[in-house]
Amino acid sequence: MRISESRAKAEGRAQVRPTAEGWKQAMGDDGRPQLQFTAKARVSQPPVHLADLTLAERAEKLKEIGLPGFRAKQLSVHYFQHYTTDPELMSDLPKDRRAEIAEVMFPKLLTEVKRLATDDGKTIKFLWRLFDGSLVESVLMRYSNRITLCISSQCGCGMNCPFCATGQAGLTRNMSTAEILDQIVQANRVIAEGGLGGQKHPEERVGNIVFMGMGEPLANYKRVMNAVHRMVADVPEGLGMSARGITVSTVGLVPAINKLSEEGVPVTFALSLHAPDDELRDEMIPVNSRWKVDEALDAAFNYYVKTGRRVSIEYALIKDMNDHGWRADLLARKLNARGRGWVHVNPIPLNPTPGSVWTASEPDVTAEFIDRLESAGVPTTLRDTRGKEIDGACGQLAAAE
Ligand code: SAH
Repeated sequence: MRISESRAKAEGRAQVRPTAEGWKQAMGDDGRPQLQFTAKARVSQPPVHLADLTLAERAEKLKEIGLPGFRAKQLSVHYFQHYTTDPELMSDLPKDRRAEIAEVMFPKLLTEVKRLATDDGKTIKFLWRLFDGSLVESVLMRYSNRITLCISSQCGCGMNCPFCATGQAGLTRNMSTAEILDQIVQANRVIAEGGLGGQKHPEERVGNIVFMGMGEPLANYKRVMNAVHRMVADVPEGLGMSARGITVSTVGLVPAINKLSEEGVPVTFALSLHAPDDELRDEMIPVNSRWKVDEALDAAFNYYVKTGRRVSIEYALIKDMNDHGWRADLLARKLNARGRGWVHVNPIPLNPTPGSVWTASEPDVTAEFIDRLESAGVPTTLRDTRGKEIDGACGQLAAAE
């Protein structure tokens, strides 16, 4: 009997294994779930957009078409502060060149295909079509004290986790820096136009970003980091957001986590752990075949040491799969072994995905799981997950029309 089966039995519980049912998980030549770190075929990237460039590069590009460098600043303010790309609205630019300038600096990246709202209009899921027909989603959420946008970093995902809808179709390509940023600018425009429901805040714009939409952000490291640098840079270079409001979430690409620790941008770091033992995590998170639980936790701890930022551990609670008492205890032991005060755990009740036969943990089991972590001194908060009614919650983004 496998260790986890005997432990579950000792608790009077079952041990469900994370085999995919109702759909077929793509397998690699080695007989294990396929991992895609790069796109299958050679794919092209979208045309260069103002948001792909630094302020200095924008000025260079404008000089190429015979315009003075200071126009770069004006255009950047239009985009990052007024969320506009419409040449008719840029009255500070020479009238006869507006259309041409917009064409060079603002090629259309995201075309809205569908908008679904729930929670009295306080949660909106956007479906975007990209220049090559790829579809991605972002989810905008108003809370009492902030506005959060959940953004995508890749078209599809190559990490193939059996409980997540995004992985089912594999990876198409990386999103460009500007495609990543344009999700924020478009959301800000919708907010400015009054399109997000609920009580208005003094500062009506996206203040929090979570890289928890489609894709594995650390598998698209360079473009994601360029986007992050531009989010935190002041207008006109970027959006002028606070790094603390940005959360980068990963399945655990250890070398990239270590690189992130050295970036000098104190973003919030989240590790999608979902199991404290390799026996189960090997099956739940295929990338665990490369980097084991302890290696991922060491890298997460190192992130805390290097940045002083408290790390989040994401844990989707799945009935009879990863919600056993002994797993809560083991998780607490592994976290406490590395130190105190460096981490908190965010359990999320599993959201249903197409073809999945698993369900969220029962409320009493969830409560006990949290209680065991808390009693061991590990701060734990059940994550409120929004947008289930519109397939916009964690793990449900699959981008179909
Ligand atoms: N690839 C990154 C970013 C995606 S984040 C990562 O895995 O961290 C999406 C978050 O939702 C991750 O924590 C992921 O594990 C979690 N998730 C995936 N499927 C889910 C589901 N069906 N229910 C609840 N959470 C899920």
